Amino acid sequence: MPLCEACGRAPAVSFSAFNDRDGKPWRWALTCYCTSTRESYYVKFPDFFREPQHWIEHLTPKFWFSAERFLEALGRALEARVPAGAREARDAE
Ligand SMILES: [Zn+2]
Repeated sequence: MPLCEACGRAPAVSFSAFNDRDGKPWRWALTCYCTSTRESYYVKFPDFFREPQHWIEHLTPKFWFSAERFLEALGRALEARVPAGAREARDAE
């Protein structure tokens, strides 16, 4: 699991989107629960990796969404081996 990109102290649990009010599409970070009152949107890792196509189709039409920005965050999650954890969770169901 990646460490939270906000606090650096706990494992990240979700893709979280932040509206920095800079006119750009919202920024994505891998975060733990420390950002729950600051983030504008989130998708928990197990939910995303169980149904990635669903989430991509759900997010893409949103006016604030940037595929480029999300893919950067997804890349960081993949490099931190989040999918391995998600697969274990799925196998256990
Ligand atoms: Zn955190």
